[in-house]
Amino acid sequence: MLDAPARYRCTVCRDRGWIVSRAPDDGLDSGSARPCDCRGRQRGERLLEETGIPERYRQCTLENFLVADGGVAGEELVRARATCQSYVEGFLASDGTFCQSGLLFVGRVGVGKTHLAVAVLRELVRRFGLPGRFVDFTTLVHRMQVSFDPTSEESRRQLLDPLGSVDVLVLDELGAQKPTPFVRDLLYLIVNTRYARRLPTLFTTNFALEAPSARPQRSLDRAADPPDDAAIAVTLEQRIGAPLLSRLFEMARPVLLDSVRDYRREIRMHQLRT
Ligand SMILES: [Zn+2]
Repeated sequence: MLDAPARYRCTVCRDRGWIVSRAPDDGLDSGSARPCDCRGRQRGERLLEETGIPERYRQCTLENFLVADGGVAGEELVRARATCQSYVEGFLASDGTFCQSGLLFVGRVGVGKTHLAVAVLRELVRRFGLPGRFVDFTTLVHRMQVSFDPTSEESRRQLLDPLGSVDVLVLDELGAQKPTPFVRDLLYLIVNTRYARRLPTLFTTNFALEAPSARPQRSLDRAADPPDDAAIAVTLEQRIGAPLLSRLFEMARPVLLDSVRDYRREIRMHQLRT
């Protein structure tokens, strides 16, 4: 009876995960078995499923990250993508150990921070077969609060343990929640656990690293700008506190995307002039 090949996801090993070859001559012991390539692929796919990357970011890669042409913002996008690429390339050191530090993406809403963080996470999971996790901070805080309800099915430990132990973590929207003592304690626990275990974390935040007055003026037109949006006028330090911020700098390299809002304005100015 003929097998219908379409029924197998892998037609090479017919989903057995092993390729068995029998020696041409004789004997029952002369065969050999080796793992099929699909085992690695399936593991990668399963690990990607387990990351919890939201649907809208599932397809994010470094290749499909759009970098605008020209201008300060365009250069910043190109630089940010290049930083991510070299981070991935250098993640496995020549002595066989993985990188212990992470990245901190800084910029306004909608500039591509999460895209880049997810793209790096996916690449590390796929390339090195490492378990990874994506969590956005607002959702995490909400789930933590729900977990205090005695009828909750999810315990604090079930929520937090994976975040402290997973090989690569994306912590999206750092500082997005009001900095209550509860929120700060939660953040401190995750960050310190990962720091102590030397596990890399990719953070994103809408909050600035420096107060607006401390940032250099990029052009004379800037004086005519509408006031900065609320998020970027508040610093990350104000949101999460100085001790935690200095810990972040010890464990993650900043990737700045804070000119990117200017980019659209520059395009508009350019169109007006020409
Ligand atoms: Zn196979």
